[in-house]
Amino acid sequence: MVEVVGQNEVLNLLSTLVIKDKLPNSLIFTGLKGVGKFSSALWLACLINCTNSDLNLRPCGKCSHCKKISNLNSVDIHVIEPDEITLNLKIDQIRELVSESSFAPSELKKRVFIIKNAERMTDEAGNSILKILEEPPNYLLFILTASDSSSVLPTILSRCSEIKFRDIPKNIIFDWLLKNKMANEEDSKLISSIAFGSIGVATEYAKDPKKLEKRIILLDILTNIEKYSSFEISAKTSDICSSLSDFFVINKAISLWLRDLMAISVCKNFQDFVNIDFAEQIIKQSNIISISSLFAISELLKDTVKKTFFNVNPSFLSDNLFRGISLILSKY
Ligand SMILES: [Zn+2]
Repeated sequence: MVEVVGQNEVLNLLSTLVIKDKLPNSLIFTGLKGVGKFSSALWLACLINCTNSDLNLRPCGKCSHCKKISNLNSVDIHVIEPDEITLNLKIDQIRELVSESSFAPSELKKRVFIIKNAERMTDEAGNSILKILEEPPNYLLFILTASDSSSVLPTILSRCSEIKFRDIPKNIIFDWLLKNKMANEEDSKLISSIAFGSIGVATEYAKDPKKLEKRIILLDILTNIEKYSSFEISAKTSDICSSLSDFFVINKAISLWLRDLMAISVCKNFQDFVNIDFAEQIIKQSNIISISSLFAISELLKDTVKKTFFNVNPSFLSDNLFRGISLILSKY
């Protein structure tokens, strides 16, 4: 059965909507990457199709419908996600989905279309799905997922009911890692902190020690950025950034480093560190870096993410980002 961790409020809300027969046919699940949006979408698909669901309204996990959906093995469950290289949802993918949507379910009660990372939908792809999202037939459920509703095309957002997912508290991630023997106690402490509310990110760190090593390289650059030339940084990051997904990992590491600096400099919060293993270095940096530089870096990050829609080479983006940060820090 599909497992959803730390999102009971969302599951209860979805159950209530189903009990009251008020579940909209177009939903958008929003929340950080890895907080359980996709697993909750499958959970909901199980719930509305389960042949045994009880009065507490939880899917049974055992009937043929629940099993097929959990294993993504039903002809009535469709998952669409961005192309691996450009990370965009393209018009051809959406057109195919729209033409599929004219068929009634063949084995389940309802067909479910899950569109992952809806914020990566190009304008033309978005336009081609508006009509069906506005009034899907009753045998269909659309579930879109996105990390941030503000980056979804407004025309898409306005046609869906939004369900917000919270960041998962550190202690829940810590307990989950230990319970599933994913990491020892010391690593679980670090991973639950740097996963920053995301069980998916925590799993990636726990399963792939190389990710932790790459993070250390990035944090070392960020906390000593004045010591490195652009050339040295580019050499150090070239192995880390070979795809657009890698670029987003780098982007996230910079965001969390910035978040720690902001917490100290702006909120005077020394308790709630994300990068607990680099706390000393970051506190030292916070005495030198001005608040205006931090905001300038934050803007630079946002601008760089916008460029990812235009097929720019990921290592070029990464080099530019680090060069931009060095420049900001040398100016103020
Ligand atoms: Zn079932």
